[in-house]
Amino acid sequence: MQSRRNKVYRKQKPEKIKSDKSAADIVRELKEQSSPVSSYRERSLKIHGLICAKCAREFDYMDRHLLTVHHKDGNPRNNPPDGSNWENLCVYCHEDEHSRGLLGDYFSDKG
Ligand SMILES: [Zn+2]
Ligand SMILES: [Zn+2]
Repeated sequence: MQSRRNKVYRKQKPEKIKSDKSAADIVRELKEQSSPVSSYRERSLKIHGLICAKCAREFDYMDRHLLTVHHKDGNPRNNPPDGSNWENLCVYCHEDEHSRGLLGDYFSDKG
């Protein structure tokens, strides 16, 4: 009596990716895919500096993950390139600024 079954795995060959795209096209696509969340964050840190707008605590490059970007109008989609809607707040002040539990978005990308 043989109870062993041979499972059949269908091997699918990956289709060859057509390489008629130029390198520039690929780079552009990658940029479009990348999350805008991290890019506005970096920009805000550059514009306003590594300092909390509320408690004036300064951060260095290694500590900058403790600095978060607050949207003054409360709309994370409103990201003017001049940074007028952004405020850099340390995580403590930011938590203070919002009521607790509403900051999932801000802390989810901490890494
Ligand atoms: Zn602060
Ligand atoms: Zn905020």
